[in-house]
Amino acid sequence: MKATIPYIEKKFAEFNAKCFGGKLAPLPIRLGNGRSFLGKLMYKRRRVPFNWWRYSDFVLVISTRFDLPEEVVEDTILHEMIHYYIHSHRMEDTSAHGKIFRRMMNNINRRYKRHITIRHKYTAEEQESDTERRQHFVCVSALSDGRTGVTLAAHTRLLQLWDAMPQVPSVSECSWYITSDPFFNRFPRSITPKIYAASDEEVRQHLESASRLIRTGNQVRMEDENQNEE
Ligand SMILES: [Zn+2]
Repeated sequence: MKATIPYIEKKFAEFNAKCFGGKLAPLPIRLGNGRSFLGKLMYKRRRVPFNWWRYSDFVLVISTRFDLPEEVVEDTILHEMIHYYIHSHRMEDTSAHGKIFRRMMNNINRRYKRHITIRHKYTAEEQESDTERRQHFVCVSALSDGRTGVTLAAHTRLLQLWDAMPQVPSVSECSWYITSDPFFNRFPRSITPKIYAASDEEVRQHLESASRLIRTGNQVRMEDENQNEE
């Protein structure tokens, strides 16, 4: 399932009453599209005397990027609610997921048979569910150890990365493509030459619908753009 705002509001009210003694004030809720997080609690904080932090302006964000089992969505909401409880009650934890966080998480898991975790890694299956078509600038590189590397350029950094990739010592050869194959959604877009090793066979297979890019000076165009000229 993918969460909606009414769904999150309903779960927030339900868990607040059940697991947090109704002690959490309602807060703004937003849907996110991040691939790196399932949920996050945003806030402002400022220093107050005795080196304490004062937290305010809380916003709960739940990612709808991937299709997830309902239990995982619920546990994500609970995870963020624990952060919210700690910060809004001015409790000083030993770290972001410190002793207080873990104690509360373990209590809720035990009492309500939940499976909240500190971190959540996306499974391969969840990544496959990200089928949205977005255009990617992809650099495929042959690495000197024989592996294949994939680099996705942030759209504003294509030319800089185009210059930078061949300078990377481990890159022996590279070429650029434009593609909207969702396979490439799993790689983060880079502003520096970050290379992700990938299966050569898989990459080739997903480049079938891609267009090769060629560059002349500061102009980048698709290689086959001129093929139909008469
Ligand atoms: Zn957390």
